[in-house]
Formats: sequence, structure tokens, C-alpha cells
Amino acid sequence: MKEIKNYIDKTIRSGNKPNLKMFIYLISLTETFEEVLDIAEYLQSLGFTLGKKKYNWMLALVESYDDAKTIISAMKKKRVNIDIENYLNFVNTAENSFQVRQIINDMEINNIETVPAIYARLLWVQDSYDNARKILDEVKQSGLEPFIMYYILLSTAQCENEVREVIDDLKMIGREFDIEDYYRFAYKNRRDIVKLTRESLRRNYKPSNYEDLYEYKKQDKLSKKRQQIINVTRRDYVIVNYLKEIYNNSCQVCGIKLSLGNDIYYSEVHHIKPLSCNGPDILENMLVLCPNHHKLFDRGAITINIENKKVIHIDAKNNINTLSLTLKHKVDKSYVNYHNYNILIKV
Ligand SMILES: [Zn+2]
Repeated sequence: MKEIKNYIDKTIRSGNKPNLKMFIYLISLTETFEEVLDIAEYLQSLGFTLGKKKYNWMLALVESYDDAKTIISAMKKKRVNIDIENYLNFVNTAENSFQVRQIINDMEINNIETVPAIYARLLWVQDSYDNARKILDEVKQSGLEPFIMYYILLSTAQCENEVREVIDDLKMIGREFDIEDYYRFAYKNRRDIVKLTRESLRRNYKPSNYEDLYEYKKQDKLSKKRQQIINVTRRDYVIVNYLKEIYNNSCQVCGIKLSLGNDIYYSEVHHIKPLSCNGPDILENMLVLCPNHHKLFDRGAITINIENKKVIHIDAKNNINTLSLTLKHKVDKSYVNYHNYNILIKV
């Protein structure tokens, strides 16, 4: 904490003004939520206002339900609009059904539409497969797309029969079990989510002039622990969302943007070298795709040429071959090569 404060002082002395981006980076270096609050307070005491968005970032790094509740109350007091993203962070701190249901109530009162991810948490906090199954049935009746929940249900399964049952259910709704989906929804522990969030904030919000502070942190003892976390093959939500934002949820192959209504759009992020084959969870290994083109990639029917920005279908006569690839981020060629040699169907 002392180092972070020294850094802020140094930055100000050298004529730079702290801003939201710096705040995000600084809080990514913290280890506890108290430190997050300290930094926010310290910056404010120096006369810097961080705006409404700071609440989002604070909520992203809060571990306990009580702390999250305090932030939400503060937002209400200051009449800051609480959006779905805030609620998603809030709900992921909930530890029991009662807390989740209170949050859902609160959303209803404030006219915020509940999304499947909110109910996903309700499923997570169940202590048994049977209870989780009951919740899933309840959610299904409300007409929400339940496939995410089947993956969570799967992680509560204790015996082979239960695992089979869930995989059969997935088939029933037309989805084959996908290990990547399983990883994608396998977050349970709030502490893990917060650690991963810190990690990716650090990667994405590190401006070059923070170098010295970054070097300092890299050497500290906790880095080893963090390294272990990175090694766990899990999707990194923050990076994924960042990439989807770059493409505004449009498919890099066809440009289609699937509307879920209410100005919400759906896209998927594809790992060119799959996570299950030790592909890294980094932007250079990712593409934003619509579900159709995601599937064609997964099944090795298409590939891309990043040099001339073209999409290639293994069937030369397919219309896809006339499409050009939208490319706004750096894709590493080695992952495309991996796809071409190992996944793409040979014709
Ligand atoms: Zn597409």
C-alpha cells in the first residue's frame, strides 16, 4: 500500500494526473478490498474525482457480500444508476439462496431485467445436486435459456449417474457437452473470480509509464501464487468482454450481431488454439464470432489468413471464401498455424 501511495505521489509530482484508468490499474495491485477503498479515498483526498464508473471496478474486486452491499447502498445514496453489470458482480458475492433472492428482488424493484447469469448464482449456492436441480426446473419455467445452468448443475453432481443425467439433458436441449463451456461456467469461488479479475486488469490497464510499479509488484511474494492461478485453465471474463467490446459483439467473419433485444447483443469468443490443448487465455489467441462461425471453427471447417484478412472454408465453393475478416486486434500467427495443422479438416 505504501508503495502504491508513493507511486501516486510520484505521478502527481511529475505532472501526470491520476485518472480512472490509473485507478483501475492501481486497484489491480491490491490484495484486499480495504486497499481498494484506501486508494479510492487517497485519490479523492488529493482532489481527484473518479466518476460513477469507479463503483463498477470496486464491485469487481469485492469479495464479501457485506462489502458489496455497502457499495450498492452507497450508489443508491448518491443516486448512481445501478446497472446489470453491477448486479452481476453483486450477485457473485452472494453465499446463500436468501442473499441471491434478495438481490433478485432488488433488481425487480429497480426494473432491471434478470438474466440467466443471475440465476446461475442461485444454482451455485445450492449445497446439493438435488437442490440445484430444483432451482434449474424453477428457472426453466420462467423461460430463460438454461444451458449455462446445466454446466453448473454438472459441477454439483456427485456420482456418475448424475453426470450422465445432466449430459443427457444437454443433448435434449440440442447441446452437446463441451468441455470449454464447462470451464467457462466453472467459477464458483468469489475469491478466485476476484483474483482472476485483478490479474487481467493488470494486463489490460498497464500503461507503459507504470513500468516501475509493475516491476516492483512482479517481484513480490504473491506473484508466485498468482502464477498458479493463471495456470488454471479458466476463461477470463474480463479479457473476453474487452474483446467483445472492441468488435461491438459482431462476428469477425460475417459481421452479424445477434440481438437479444433491449440493446443487448450476443457474441462468442473462440480460442484459436483451444484451452484444452494448452492454448493461452490471451487476446492474441482469440476471435469474436457468431455461434455459427464459432462452430465452423471448432469443427475445423474454416480458418483465417491474417495477412490478407481473408476467411477460408475447406470447401472452395463455399460462400464464406468470399468474405473478408474483420481484424482490429493482434492475432498471433502461431495459433492460426496450430489450428491449420491440428483442427482444420484436411481436404
Ligand atoms: Zn458469423
